Amino acid sequence: MAKISINIATGSLQQEELIVGIDLGTTNSLIAIIHPDTKKPIALKDVDDKVLVPSVIHFDENGNIQVGTTAKDYLIEDASNTIYSVKRLLGKSYQDIVDKNAYFSYKIIDHDADSLVKIQIGEQFYSPIELSSFILKELKERAEHVLKQPISKCVITVPAFFNDAQRQATRDAGKLAGLEVLRIINEPTAASLAYGIGTSINDTKQIAVYDLGGGTFDISILRITEGIFDVLSTHGDTYLGGDDLDKEIVRWIQEKLALSDQQLYADKQGYAALRLEAENAKKQLSYDTEYTFKHSNQEFTLSRSEFEQRIQPIIQRTIQSCEQALRDSGLSKQQLQAVVLVGGSSRVPLVKKMVADFFEQTPYDNVNPDEVVALGAAVQADILAGNTKDILLLDITPLSLGIETMGGLMDVLIPRNTKIPAKAGRQYTTQKDGQSGIRISVYQGERDLVKDNRKLAEFILSGIPSMPAGLPKVDIQFILNADGILQVRARELRSGIEQTVDIKPQFGLTDAEVEQMLLDSIMHAKADIAERSVVEAITEAENLIQLTENFMHKHEAFIVPEERSAAMQAIAVLQEAMQQRDKNAIMHANEELNRISSPFAERVMDAAVAAALKGKTV
Ligand code: ADP
Ligand code: MG
Repeated sequence: MAKISINIATGSLQQEELIVGIDLGTTNSLIAIIHPDTKKPIALKDVDDKVLVPSVIHFDENGNIQVGTTAKDYLIEDASNTIYSVKRLLGKSYQDIVDKNAYFSYKIIDHDADSLVKIQIGEQFYSPIELSSFILKELKERAEHVLKQPISKCVITVPAFFNDAQRQATRDAGKLAGLEVLRIINEPTAASLAYGIGTSINDTKQIAVYDLGGGTFDISILRITEGIFDVLSTHGDTYLGGDDLDKEIVRWIQEKLALSDQQLYADKQGYAALRLEAENAKKQLSYDTEYTFKHSNQEFTLSRSEFEQRIQPIIQRTIQSCEQALRDSGLSKQQLQAVVLVGGSSRVPLVKKMVADFFEQTPYDNVNPDEVVALGAAVQADILAGNTKDILLLDITPLSLGIETMGGLMDVLIPRNTKIPAKAGRQYTTQKDGQSGIRISVYQGERDLVKDNRKLAEFILSGIPSMPAGLPKVDIQFILNADGILQVRARELRSGIEQTVDIKPQFGLTDAEVEQMLLDSIMHAKADIAERSVVEAITEAENLIQLTENFMHKHEAFIVPEERSAAMQAIAVLQEAMQQRDKNAIMHANEELNRISSPFAERVMDAAVAAALKGKTV
């Protein structure tokens, strides 16, 4: 592996090196670089000259994994083994997506609503991080193939509204794919950089970025001052996009052929073909004024104007979001210097027209809208590589800062390469009933287990009043000031008890050591993430066992002996799997115990409701 060196103060690489920009999209993903000769960003193509990699992963019965166009062919015929829209699941718990479960045709594990979701394919369980890493790996391999050199560093884009957990999950996916994620940047920021907006220091601008993709819509209002991008407001709809336009055309065909819903959906293959036909029709209508559909001996023509009439209400919803975002930003349309169009669906002429009418200006659309985000990521990558001398580099944290959580895991609060000063916080709780103290261990580094990172400090927040496990709310704040001093503050919110320590993270750390820590994290990524998922599965299992045992103890009357022994046996199996540290076995046993024990809770609930109703007059 090539040697790298990183300037601690700036985070810039000291040696010229190719860093790629990646747009990890819900529907499509792609990878871009700054061309070494022309110095212009370009997206990299596959052997068929295609730039876009559909964000789809297929698993066959032999455990082979396909990504992209070939995987997309399985969406209908092998739906339960074909993963799409995994970006929607990144950093999410089951609770977050439960009302959208019908949207996914593959199996999402639902036994623990609060922990991060997992996807079951056959006998295997995958996290959205692992699944996303397959897409990133595909992109990495494409770049290595085209550029004929190893690629190890990248910038990845995420929606502006992505929270901390979603950003961290994206970083982890990169790491797992063997990529060092130098920075996560917002998609609208990348789009803006691709247009050269905000690339010179004394440029203050306010812009709107309108992004209509395959299944999502985002509008962001940005202010750019001296190369710093601030998101003033965002709005959108996470279930609105090009797919909805396709469905309008499917409906049109359905009307023309006089098909009932049942007839339409009964033939899976036929329906899939129709969806594809509709997407092609839609694309054609972006250039032509007509599209002709042929069936048996009949021909039907859809004019662009009829198409526009049908989709107008959908586009109108995006305009309402624009209105809201503008209001939230506190700016008027006249204060915007540019409106940038992003996403494949922004090619639809009616979209361009309605956006132009709403903002009362001609939007920027001359950069390919499905490439613009990746191209901007490549521009950012080039800035980080130190190749653009006239742009300012900010002080950033060279290594991630976080605390130890259950099972010795590193929970990152401030990721590496975060602009200083920075502030981040998260809430934690207790593990045991009546626990009066919480040990807070602060670490620095990129590894998943704290034992491999550098310990900066440790203190105990004591005097927490006696409460059941899970009730105390311990808020931990990391405040990193401009001089690089980290203040860690822990506060139990119910009682108000608080403790603070000041730490100098960079103290005694050389450039070479930072470099080594980064290299180690990439080299051990696979093992680290595997270990992390075992620890997470064990933690979940421990919780379920404790819950079940407590429950059986408290509500003895509701549980018959056979059930008790079934539960005890399931617990024994689970404990054995935990001993073996086999993730898949633990998760299977966990599912089983959950299946046995969840009816207990329902019964107790029913009894409680019945008792409550008894005393009431109706
Ligand atoms: P995402 O950011 O969600 O991954 P993209 O920006 O790649 O998605 O957008 C994909 C969507 O763009 C799809 O619905 C696709 O049909 C649509 N699209 C691509 N080209 C065109 C076109 N010429 N006209 C209309 N829609 C298009
Ligand atoms: Mg996109």
